[in-house]
Amino acid sequence: MFIVDAHLDLSMNALEWNRDLTLPISEINKREAGLNDKPDRAKGVVSLPDLRRGNIGLVVATQIARYVALGNNLPGWHSPEQAWAQSQGQMAWYKAMEEAGEMVQINNLETLEKHIALWNDGAPSDKKPVGYILSLEGADSMITVNHVERAYNYGLRAIGPAHYGPGRYAQGTDATGFMGPVGHELLKEMERLNIILDATHLCDDSFWEALDHFNGHVWASHNNVRALVDHNRQYSDDMIKALIERGAVIGGALDAWMMVPGWVRGVSTPQATNCTLDVLIDHIDHICQIAGNANHVGIGSDLDGAFGREQCPYDLETIADLQKIPALFKKRGYSDADVEKLMHGNWLRFLRNAWK
Ligand SMILES: [Zn+2]
Repeated sequence: MFIVDAHLDLSMNALEWNRDLTLPISEINKREAGLNDKPDRAKGVVSLPDLRRGNIGLVVATQIARYVALGNNLPGWHSPEQAWAQSQGQMAWYKAMEEAGEMVQINNLETLEKHIALWNDGAPSDKKPVGYILSLEGADSMITVNHVERAYNYGLRAIGPAHYGPGRYAQGTDATGFMGPVGHELLKEMERLNIILDATHLCDDSFWEALDHFNGHVWASHNNVRALVDHNRQYSDDMIKALIERGAVIGGALDAWMMVPGWVRGVSTPQATNCTLDVLIDHIDHICQIAGNANHVGIGSDLDGAFGREQCPYDLETIADLQKIPALFKKRGYSDADVEKLMHGNWLRFLRNAWK
């Protein structure tokens, strides 16, 4: 089945993890044997060949670069200009992947339909470029709101104003507080350019404020459910209801700590917490039950988003194993039509509507 994955930090892996994503992940992992600068070394699951093997032909791929003010101990750049430069390096990598025929940017209805037709033409997928919709995770790197139009011109189509911690335009996971006037300006500019608001990572205050001030299209690329794992990073049922009312699609994520309760980073293991792909269905099903249909959820795996096999479902060896998910939905009684919506149809409907 054709799969859309709405959240992958591909350029971050290429440039900060130094992974050549044109190689199979088995080879990338082999080369990382013995490295211990990051907890997920040699435990990666994502590469372009493995995406093709899994028939995951369209992804939302990020630029990501945080600004940290003095006293903020999260990793990040000390000025917005440095963060912008980092994001431009990431853009240069995506462009190089396009020139190599490995990826293709999807940024309007025409390129979307052409790409979907290519991936559904019956030919083997091993030579097809992986389509990517460019998204920015955390808006700190926008030096000014005027930079948003420059980014739109090189293909940016979605922005999540916040990531972890306090941000320049919005407050994110583990932070509290509102977006303020500069955040409102950002939302206004996104609306003018028809850039999708990614509500993922917004803290509760900023989340409600963003929905109030933004009249454009809203999705949540990678977000699980607070009722199942109680953390501010997750959505409460009220937040889920509000997103459904806005026509949003929410991407279910495969980061173990967001899937199973009580995860302790670096201590818990997927095996000991029984973290399998089936747990993702619990989160997705919770949203479907609130919606009363299967129209508002998809996959936004976040795989290799600074974690690897040590912190994702143990029945997933590479991202190609997303192909195991349709059978898990069917076991829960989802119809074939609903499974297609959940694996790709909802994201495609959202994009066709947003870009029409
Ligand atoms: Zn994220």
